[in-house]
Amino acid sequence: MQRLLNKVFTGLMGLVFRFSSIPSQIVFAGPGCAEQLAKHVARLGYQRVLVVTDRVLVDLGLAAGFRASLEAAGCEVQIHDGILPDPTDLAVEACLDTLRAQDSDAIVALGGGSVIDAAKAMAASATNGPVSQLAGFGKVKNNPIPLFAVPTTAGTGSEATIVAVISDAETHKKQFILGANLLPGAVALDPALQLSMPASVTAATGADALTHAIEAYLSRLANDDIRRSAAAAVQTIFHYLPAACSVGDDIDAREAMALAAYQAGAALNQGSVGTVHAIAHQLGARYGTPHGVANAVVLPPVLDCYLPSQAVPLALLAAKIGVCEASDSESERALKFIAAVRDLLRDVGLASALPDLNQSDINALAVDAEAECRQYPVPYFLSRDELESVLETLIDA
Ligand code: NAD
Repeated sequence: MQRLLNKVFTGLMGLVFRFSSIPSQIVFAGPGCAEQLAKHVARLGYQRVLVVTDRVLVDLGLAAGFRASLEAAGCEVQIHDGILPDPTDLAVEACLDTLRAQDSDAIVALGGGSVIDAAKAMAASATNGPVSQLAGFGKVKNNPIPLFAVPTTAGTGSEATIVAVISDAETHKKQFILGANLLPGAVALDPALQLSMPASVTAATGADALTHAIEAYLSRLANDDIRRSAAAAVQTIFHYLPAACSVGDDIDAREAMALAAYQAGAALNQGSVGTVHAIAHQLGARYGTPHGVANAVVLPPVLDCYLPSQAVPLALLAAKIGVCEASDSESERALKFIAAVRDLLRDVGLASALPDLNQSDINALAVDAEAECRQYPVPYFLSRDELESVLETLIDA
């Protein structure tokens, strides 16, 4: 029954996607390109710009540097630095007060996925009413306040997606606001602003990008374009994530990771996330596990469950990252890909178990993950028992 509901829901979703278009977006890329984005915003005629960011980025001096670029381009700038990881509807409402007080005519999100999502929700809420009423597809009827994004992590790809993930302040459950008009008008993939990411954040956000790329590649809605982008992102992440983690100031590795995260995010717009995210979101809501860490721990055991039905695409990914021999069978290749994912995550310091996870929570987590999975075009729908088994493997022995 659950599998049938999943097929019906995601079949309708495929139809909606087929007849909806994603607007184009200007992408500046390369070291220092945030300055080009600042000039672009000014050239479009925006005069009072609100920069949404967080305290960490202010303390690192990144917000001041970007403010200087906007001011040099002729904009008046206000900074709101109150965004915390996994932003809530209340945090977005607080941010809206600053927007209204300044009568800002454009918003630039400078930060990781949390900041970009908060800025998207805020831009949408300013013209459409309370954030709590915008969850779902197509509720953002009026065009949001013009929004631009400068990602400072290489993971979520939120700068390339049409979704904002906002947590309910009371329940901590993640709500999804979806609409093509949430896509930022222009983005700057500036690796110079990502050099300060500690190795742990680089690894966790990189694992998030890897999960997006793999889930989009395996999605039932994936077409050739999505698979091409997603496979390219997988290839780049395998090549550059270890260097970005071990040599933080390797600008080439940072640039490659910024592009891979963008590509993986863009692939999600029509490919969608899947089972890994459905489980990871529950871990984030219940234990506050950082999004990338939760994805990293869940990805390998979910791929194990996919193996019998998904050997062909997994084998193709193995060939992309060069871990198989010509003589390997399809299932040997697929197994090698899953082993390579485990090795990569371990090598960049990510754990394969969650100390916070309690046996007594497993059933409830599986129930909620199953409900979320119903909305995703997963290549194979895990039963409740299989979801529980995946969660069992994450208990710290
Ligand atoms: P984050 O934005 O929560 O940032 C994690 C930490 O890294 C923060 O403390 C932040 O201050 C710090 N940080 C950011 N950039 C830094 C830098 N350059 N140097 C030093 N520290 C830096 O993490 P994230 O993984 O980018 O975003 C996670 C959020 O994105 C979650 O809420 C998740 O649900 C959401 N998400 C959104 C989408 C989407 O398409 N909208 C997709 C996936 C995930």
